[in-house]
Amino acid sequence: MVLLPVAAVICLLAACEVVSSDKSKRDTSTVTDTTGVAARADTSPPSGVPAAPSDSLANTVARDSGTVTMSADRPVRGGVLFALAEGLAPDIPRCTWKGATLPCYRVARGVLAIVPLPADEPAGTFTLTFDRPAGRITRQITVADHDFGRELVFLDSAHYALVKRGADVARDARALRAVLGAESDTRYWSGSWGAPVKGARGDGYGAERFYYRAADSSRAIRLGPELKTTGSFGLDTVVASSRDVPSWRHAGVDLTASRGSSVVAPAAGLVADVGSYILTGNTVVIDHGQGVHSAYFHLDTALVRRGDRVAAGKRIGRVGATGLATGPHLHYGIYVHGKDIDPAAWAAMPAFARDQGDAGTSKSKQ
Ligand SMILES: [Zn+2]
Repeated sequence: MVLLPVAAVICLLAACEVVSSDKSKRDTSTVTDTTGVAARADTSPPSGVPAAPSDSLANTVARDSGTVTMSADRPVRGGVLFALAEGLAPDIPRCTWKGATLPCYRVARGVLAIVPLPADEPAGTFTLTFDRPAGRITRQITVADHDFGRELVFLDSAHYALVKRGADVARDARALRAVLGAESDTRYWSGSWGAPVKGARGDGYGAERFYYRAADSSRAIRLGPELKTTGSFGLDTVVASSRDVPSWRHAGVDLTASRGSSVVAPAAGLVADVGSYILTGNTVVIDHGQGVHSAYFHLDTALVRRGDRVAAGKRIGRVGATGLATGPHLHYGIYVHGKDIDPAAWAAMPAFARDQGDAGTSKSKQ
């Protein structure tokens, strides 16, 4: 249950997009097992069976040892799991997660799988696999639960009218989903990811946000357990009925910055979309390759065009308050294989994922 004092609401209306009712708390009590993290393989090749085909790449990397190196040590909802099967060098890597195909890629040291753990998928223990000639490598991964909080957002009548444009919002969502779901083989980024806005702090990933009229802020509103969000911000194609409280799960972080501040690419990529949408306003999406995208919402101005190649640090736009934003800020989202994750978790990328070049162009970089 969340009851918000009116004073807090007024203050935040002037300053930013949301009222935070419950800052994110890591739930440390629900998981006791991270079996398989950085563990040895449980499927050693039988004697006499070659471990991996010999080809030009395999000759440059370690022999398939069956070792899978993973990070984070403690996977959590909203985070991301990087898993490297070292030395594995099939022509076409094949991986699965939760029994479904997961795109994975050859890198200099083996096969890298990046598993998104979006806030809208449950905690639990799930199976990650890598196929290889000597038999499938299997790991059980426990994803810890996390409370992302629930928030009330009060909107003036002009902004409230935006959330009610259901058919237009759904059309935009289909367009953005198509961009963010694209999977290109080339990997454009390497090294650490920077921040898209200098010195800004960001939060709010995964929070459930419920939108009311500003006039409603004079009465206490109770967010009962029966109220549930129906999709993620900017990507929900469900058109809510007029009786529903408009609501979405916040699929990125809001970075505080003044209007006109520079937004820069945190890593190299290809500009996949520049558009103007009802909720996300002036929007830029960068494709970083191999299923990784970053998104920038509510821009005042976009400074790139679709198809542009951008280097890390390249200026791509200026901070604004377009779309569903009640003050200037940058909404920054990271998507892996079409699913949103917490950009803070992405920035904590381990060295083995950061420093892997594209298998087609790099030699062993250990
Ligand atoms: Zn946002």
